[in-house]
Amino acid sequence: MICERCSRDIYKNEKCDYCSRKICFNCVKSSKRLSKTTRLVICKDCWSKMPSRKKYKGTTLASTEMKMPEREGFGERPQFDRRPQFGKRPPFKR
Ligand SMILES: [Zn+2]
Ligand SMILES: [Zn+2]
Repeated sequence: MICERCSRDIYKNEKCDYCSRKICFNCVKSSKRLSKTTRLVICKDCWSKMPSRKKYKGTTLASTEMKMPEREGFGERPQFDRRPQFGKRPPFKR
């Protein structure tokens, strides 16, 4: 297997998540674990480009968790609905 960035012969490759090239460890600028199964890898080329670097830095474990639909905590405590409505008086008196 050959690294698509530096053409070095490698036995194991990483995949850059921004240019989708198979690269060697030497060409990996940075990588981080997002979850047990997900890893984010950025190569040195993409690191030098501001948009992809920002994207890489902005992608965190927290931000990926936010995308998951099954997250508890938002639906709890409906404080706004429970508050008694003092201001509104039903128009019974005539
Ligand atoms: Zn390489
Ligand atoms: Zn890349």
